[in-house]
Amino acid sequence: MLTLGEYLDDLTTEGELVETLEEGAVRCVACGHRCLIRLGRRGICQVRFNQDGVLRVPWGYVAALQADPIEKKPFFHVFPGADALTFGMLGCDFHCAYCQNHLTSQAMRDPESDIAASLVRKITPAQMTELALRARAQVIVSSYNEPLITSEWAVSVFQEALKAGLRCAYVSNGNATPEVLRYLRPYLSAYKIDLKTMQDRQYRSLGGVLQHVLDSIRFAHELGLWVEVVTLVVPGFNDSTEELLDAARYIRSVSPDIPWHVTAFHPDYKMLEPEPTSVKTILRAAEIGQEAGLYFVYAGNIPRRVGEYENTYCPACHALLVERTGYTVHGYYLTESGTCPQCGKAVPGVWPENAQQVRLGGPGIPRWVRNR
Ligand code: SF4
Repeated sequence: MLTLGEYLDDLTTEGELVETLEEGAVRCVACGHRCLIRLGRRGICQVRFNQDGVLRVPWGYVAALQADPIEKKPFFHVFPGADALTFGMLGCDFHCAYCQNHLTSQAMRDPESDIAASLVRKITPAQMTELALRARAQVIVSSYNEPLITSEWAVSVFQEALKAGLRCAYVSNGNATPEVLRYLRPYLSAYKIDLKTMQDRQYRSLGGVLQHVLDSIRFAHELGLWVEVVTLVVPGFNDSTEELLDAARYIRSVSPDIPWHVTAFHPDYKMLEPEPTSVKTILRAAEIGQEAGLYFVYAGNIPRRVGEYENTYCPACHALLVERTGYTVHGYYLTESGTCPQCGKAVPGVWPENAQQVRLGGPGIPRWVRNR
């Protein structure tokens, strides 16, 4: 019987995000780790490997696939109310103790994840696009595991999706390189980045480096991608006022237009000790974001209990622009040119051209998508 590794190694293609080195070694540039991978070895993510001097990378399958409300990504300034066909593969370049997708993300690292082999479904980019259209999705998103490490597959999917008029997006930990962001730029409309902590020591405990993420937020924004940033606020890990203020100020230094989602933690995987984040803490985090000068601050994961922090307001005149509860949009009041109907201010985001087509009162829950 094949091991999970042997099974996945068959579902690969030749990588493009790579530099060739001496003696058959390669350097992968798909994520900030920039692994030097010698003959027969694997990168930190385990799913990219050097076979006979060629970097092999995941291709041709998904391990998770569903139509999610785009608000679940979360994107609040990208086609509100739309469905996003969201796919994931296996593996990650981080090992966060509180990962909510650890069965797929920690494949080939945590033996408990071997069960993820049963989730793998072979599929082609054309079939993915067909599924997105059948699900009436307007956006196709690479998420669940870390998409950077499977960027060649995402680009293959996005090339088909763009031809069909879909928008494409990434939901990422932000451990990117300039090379991978330039590689993705022609296809992506939007990029969500997790800013998990402002302490490098804490980032390293998750398998990352703070500066890589900070640089990626800035560079993705400079490239013209629509960027939204999420901080999962974990009690005792990153919830001090100083740290939240640091995060908000950094985002503000890139652009006050970048939405910042502060979301509530619940115990998961190996991080079971902290209590779930309280409403009071999330509201404090959101207020810090506003005080730091961010125009769009949202409080997530505790719907109906965070007041105005689920809605979008005009930063100039405070008119209500998008009204939400959880992942459901109840009201959409932007003009077709993406301006405030009251004062005319241009509101940053990727807005639909036809406001009449924004779905209001949607179910606000994911839908499983069958691959027939
Ligand atoms: S994606 Fe990142 S972790 Fe994986 S091989 Fe490439 S540089 Fe290493």
